[in-house]
Amino acid sequence: MGISAQRGNKLRTKGWRQEALLRLLENNLENAEDPENLVVYGSIGKVARDWPSYHAIVRSLKNIDEDETLIIQSGKPIGILKTHKDAPLVIMATSNLVGHWANSETFYQLYDKNLTMWGGLTAGDWQYIGSQGVIQGTYEIFQSIARKYFNGSLSGKFILTAGLGGMSGSQPLAGVMAGAAILTVEVDEKKADKRIATGFLQKKTHLLDEALRWIKKAQLENTPLSVGLIANAASVYSQLFERGIIPDIVSDQTAAHDLLYGYVPENIELLELEQLRKNDPNQVIQRAGKSLAKEVNALLNFQSQGAVVFDNGNNIRTQAKAFGVEKAFDIPIFTEAFLRPLFERAIGPFRWVALSGDTHDIEIIDHYLLDVFSENEIVNNWIKLAAKYVPVQGLPARIAWLGHGERTKLALAVNQFVADGVLSGPVAFTRDHLDAGAMTHPNIMTENLKDGSDAISDWPLINAMVASSSKSDLVAIHAGGGGYAGYMQSAGLTIVADGTDAAA
Ligand code: NAD
Repeated sequence: MGISAQRGNKLRTKGWRQEALLRLLENNLENAEDPENLVVYGSIGKVARDWPSYHAIVRSLKNIDEDETLIIQSGKPIGILKTHKDAPLVIMATSNLVGHWANSETFYQLYDKNLTMWGGLTAGDWQYIGSQGVIQGTYEIFQSIARKYFNGSLSGKFILTAGLGGMSGSQPLAGVMAGAAILTVEVDEKKADKRIATGFLQKKTHLLDEALRWIKKAQLENTPLSVGLIANAASVYSQLFERGIIPDIVSDQTAAHDLLYGYVPENIELLELEQLRKNDPNQVIQRAGKSLAKEVNALLNFQSQGAVVFDNGNNIRTQAKAFGVEKAFDIPIFTEAFLRPLFERAIGPFRWVALSGDTHDIEIIDHYLLDVFSENEIVNNWIKLAAKYVPVQGLPARIAWLGHGERTKLALAVNQFVADGVLSGPVAFTRDHLDAGAMTHPNIMTENLKDGSDAISDWPLINAMVASSSKSDLVAIHAGGGGYAGYMQSAGLTIVADGTDAAA
């Protein structure tokens, strides 16, 4: 039996703050791509270093007092300090390597010795809420493209993308919400089945021509449709271009950042690949790099024929350039191209989780937002769509992009709802690492900043220290693991609205 998050109001800990973090940890495994190996998403993004670490974290959360802080180093609990009750209950640092050594070779060596792990952005700090986590970001990208290139609507437009994993699995639903016909190429059929079962994908096929027929029909009828094609993206993208088929929008969200465990090379069975990763990792990296370069060449070809092409935050251009695709950076990054105007106004992804497990709690908060933020077009549009389309996965949750001030307003209102018994239980808020000031990644988040400060990494660290000094319940400093090693630094936080004055 897999691990799932406890629901209801019974505590196994010395307070709701501890119970909240324990439930979030469990919820990550409940929604994980590979729970047996503690892998939540993003190829090898894990909740804990290993099972002994996981169980020790659970034991610690059950035992710590309000004035203690559990310290976690790359997924391994290393101590509990007496602090004070306004200090975080958990602080952690994950995947950090000293600059000169921060590369994927060193990371994999340390990973093989079980000395480190990668936490992704939301796995290591237990903030993952299923494929919903990134869906509004992808939806807002599509909306921005619609406004910029297609007179405001993607109805009848063809989106080609790849990856139906933990986060990438949100793409088909984001495409449908934006009104498009979206084809997502995925090499692992089990992943497509999971997205169909969880309501993120409508149908699948192994046949390219069948997929294209379905897409064409949907385009002609202006009907939103999502199709999963079980195949390798490198092969399909090249074939489509050779056949003269140019989609309107093309991207990719396979785990391209990780050539060893993430991106699957062409012409290899998944079981054989698993073996080869153990026996000859360098061969895997070389073959994955070659296939990925072929895919990025196809992306550039599509772009040259007028398709709107973008990198959706998986380091695919960086990898392709290392494998000889000189023009890889002609493809824009989604942040700079589409979302920076939101980040510039401190609007970013903000999540909340109903710890009671009661979906009604999320509905009540949805109604509050529609009522109180009725003038805010982004929130108004998104919450209506999310309520209609986004399935419940694990503990009921919602993501919405809110601005500075708006987040506080919502959180205070929710804390009061908890105090007044309007909600069935406390609510945990988490702020994404991918937020203004919370991430340095010169090929994703901070690419082409106007003052050229792309690589300066002080901001996420300042961010984490500020969060630690202002009553966050969990604070995490993450660096890139796998192929992201040396490319990024980020910080995330969790705050539990348990209805107390202290939380307010
Ligand atoms: P994942 O490992 O859960 O899923 C990736 C999927 O890609 C897997 O299902 C895998 O089978 C498939 N795949 C790999 N190679 C393929 C190929 N050649 N052809 C077709 N399918 C292939 O990872 P995820 O959680 O979905 O994340 C994907 C990427 O997106 C990661 O690099 C992650 O860091 C990045 N990401 C970006 C954002 C953002 O805000 N833009 C957010 C989250 C994750």
